[in-house]
Amino acid sequence: MALVVQKFGGTSVGDPDRIRNVARRVVDTARAGNQVVVCVSAMAGETDALVALAQDLGQGEPSPREYDVLLSTGEQKTIALLAMAIHKLGHGAESLTGWQMGMQTDGAHKRARIRDIDCDRLRRVLDAGSIAVIAGFQGVDDDGNITTLGRGGSDTSAVAVACALEADVCEIYTDVDGVYTTDPRIVPTARKLSRISFDEMLEMASLGAKVLQVRSVKFAKRYGVPIHVRSSFHTAEGTWVTREEDVMEKLIVSGVTFNRNEAKITLRAVKDQPGVAGRVFTPLSAAGIVVDMIVQNLSRDGSTDMTFTVPQSDYAQALKIAQDAADELGATVEGNDSIAKVSVVGLGMKDHAGVATKMFNVLAEEGINIQMISTSEIKISVVLDEKYSELAVRALHRAFVDDGGQDPSEES
Ligand code: ASP
Ligand code: MG
Repeated sequence: MALVVQKFGGTSVGDPDRIRNVARRVVDTARAGNQVVVCVSAMAGETDALVALAQDLGQGEPSPREYDVLLSTGEQKTIALLAMAIHKLGHGAESLTGWQMGMQTDGAHKRARIRDIDCDRLRRVLDAGSIAVIAGFQGVDDDGNITTLGRGGSDTSAVAVACALEADVCEIYTDVDGVYTTDPRIVPTARKLSRISFDEMLEMASLGAKVLQVRSVKFAKRYGVPIHVRSSFHTAEGTWVTREEDVMEKLIVSGVTFNRNEAKITLRAVKDQPGVAGRVFTPLSAAGIVVDMIVQNLSRDGSTDMTFTVPQSDYAQALKIAQDAADELGATVEGNDSIAKVSVVGLGMKDHAGVATKMFNVLAEEGINIQMISTSEIKISVVLDEKYSELAVRALHRAFVDDGGQDPSEES
């Protein structure tokens, strides 16, 4: 008997028929001899509608505590409905809100972090032969306040519960068939990956592939619980996100991703001396702005240029902070928010040379200028003009995925 955690997103529970469909799947899994915890999101569009209400009545600044009380109702509605649908199929089920299922978080409303999960109640439900239907996205802090984990947080709830229960697998059911080599809406030849490693998924999730919340992958990686991303509309296998050792075929490039929601800021002619980078980035981090790429040039005549990227939504604020720093440091500032970051990701890059060269040549052949470059062990990212992002993704997918992804160092 296996212990399976299944998570269904908003589209999968978007209307009564879909909830009945989920109930059937969950019951099938239980009747096949498994213990099942099912974690659900709010019905499609529900959370957005609640956010709009909060914005309206809170005049754009709703109290974070009340915001969480309100938003958590979306998931509470789904768990009750799903439990009812399961009962109709003749199986036991009990719905549990965040606090009932022991989801303890810190007190940071709207973006709470999970501290601990007290699994006693969950285990009691499972031991009684029932299906535990839990609300994703929500928890409770030390003072009993309702908290939420940030948009898309149900993935993290599901994976965290799977880790806490030492489940055999966490299945994430969604409206796509799995994790693709790139966005199929842009590249029709994009294909579903059967297996990728946690690290590849982390790179792909944070680079803009919207399948899984990044935090959920971090949990799964830390506890070694495999995630199976699959469709809620059919039973075909999706994509397994697993430990690197379990990925047999280490592709040089398993994904081409892009993110148009970034902006770049350059400080020109900053003095090349200790403390300058600290002066620039300290106020950015104090403002909670997450800087992604940072490039600093070799200095000439005692000064240097420094460029970094930030989320587009933080651009205006970051630009102002950079301007203040530049004024103090005697530098000038330039910014550009019509950029895109395009990346290739793959475990096989670790042992293959020439991937970067090939990427740069492919872009050059399309006449695309590269504005910034950054690399990690399994990823190469470039920043380019936003208007070329789709062209770049298509060309890179053709070169690295469609054409077999062969070792670039072995090409003639
Ligand atoms: N319902 C929440 C949202 O829409 C959480 C989730 O679906 O993961 O962000
Ligand atoms: Mg989601």
